[in-house]
Amino acid sequence: MVKKVLIANRGEIALRVLRACKELGISTVAVHSTADNAAMHVRLADESVCIGPPPSRDSYLNIPSIVAACEISGADAVHPGYGFLSENARFADILDAHGLTFIGPTADHIRIMGDKIEAKRTAKRLGIPVVPGSAGAVTEDTEALRIADEIGFPVIVKASAGGGGRGMKVAKTREDMVVALQTARQEAGAAFGDDAVYIEKYLEKPRHIEVQVFGDGAGNAIHLGERDCSLQRRHQKVWEEANSPALSPEQRKRIGEICANAMSELRYRGAGTIEFLYENGEFYFIEMNTRLQVEHPVTEAITGIDLVHEQIRVASGEGLSVTQDEIVFSGHAIECRINAEDPRTFAPSPGKITYYHAPGGLGVRVDSGVYQGYSIPPYYDSLIGKLIVHGRNRAECMMRLRRALDEIVVDGVKTTLPLFRDLVDNPDVGAGNYDIHWLEKYLTGGAKA
Ligand code: ADP
Repeated sequence: MVKKVLIANRGEIALRVLRACKELGISTVAVHSTADNAAMHVRLADESVCIGPPPSRDSYLNIPSIVAACEISGADAVHPGYGFLSENARFADILDAHGLTFIGPTADHIRIMGDKIEAKRTAKRLGIPVVPGSAGAVTEDTEALRIADEIGFPVIVKASAGGGGRGMKVAKTREDMVVALQTARQEAGAAFGDDAVYIEKYLEKPRHIEVQVFGDGAGNAIHLGERDCSLQRRHQKVWEEANSPALSPEQRKRIGEICANAMSELRYRGAGTIEFLYENGEFYFIEMNTRLQVEHPVTEAITGIDLVHEQIRVASGEGLSVTQDEIVFSGHAIECRINAEDPRTFAPSPGKITYYHAPGGLGVRVDSGVYQGYSIPPYYDSLIGKLIVHGRNRAECMMRLRRALDEIVVDGVKTTLPLFRDLVDNPDVGAGNYDIHWLEKYLTGGAKA
């Protein structure tokens, strides 16, 4: 087993990883920017190293500083959390060259899945259902039109190097196509320095359903069911649940097995998430994330399996602690992402938390790095905590969520809590009746069942 883990992250996820390490008897090293001197992950870690000034590029993304912090502290492994360097293949390579264990997949797997065209090609080869579209990058407009005619309009033009929803354009008709291609290429070139684009059928009312997978790197792989993350704003997940209200047990089993088999064939190592759009009973692969996800606790709630423990075990070469047959799915879980943002405009609201009270009771978990008197710095994303609630079924889960939302208090900054208090009482949300556009329509006043 690794002995000392450096956590190359901040906020709630740094704390999450730290807790798993403590349980396993592994020493922890926190790294932090000068803006995070008083952060909870720094306070709770066995040791801490300041790695630079507030901007992420000078601290949490600064590879030489992080490698130096490993050497100073004697850490033998690095957990990247999510975001920052978690999907940076070069970082994984550099750690390897320094004899440090990267708690994540191989650099090659990160690279394959980081390129959308390559990822889709790989998924298809491994038997994962993909969205109909071009086989690879499309350079000629005439070829693009031919493919679009073949799959039928509407289509979506996407950047191969894309991320964060950028470089995507929908074309409803042949006439839209030339402009869509041109703008997508321009946006992709400017944002990613790579203007390769490809074409996909545009799905009009899909849900976002993702499958949690785990591999030991030696060909053993399992799935831990799915999460439904359809409630999104600007492609950012807001509310996540497990299981998906839209799937039958048979569909769950089938897609889970397809994903686990694919990971086994790939000899994938560590935690991964295979993301799909789901419409009319069909799954369509969109991308794979080669890391732990923000919403992983809902999976932990329904399986009782600590995903960070598993990540550390696998990275230490000890293999998975469970087989597929041993996994039991129990009840329902929902996660609300609490952001320090205005609940109407979503403008960030950094500042000092003057009063804080976390909810408790059966089936309630709060993952957060904040405390009363803590000042949220303005330099990083606005996620300040996650409220995760578990119940024996979805109705009990909603009941418990309503109660927990009533109990939690965060004063001094604006948060998205009022939005969740509205959503928990909404009939569509209550019925699990929503697609990926529902929340945007709701926020602009036009949501309908
Ligand atoms: P990114 O990596 O930029 O986030 P994704 O491929 O994950 O890009 O897609 C982001 C979002 O764009 C999806 O969650 C979905 O809302 C929308 N989207 C992507 N592809 C399609 C498609 N073929 N049809 C409809 N919507 C799509």
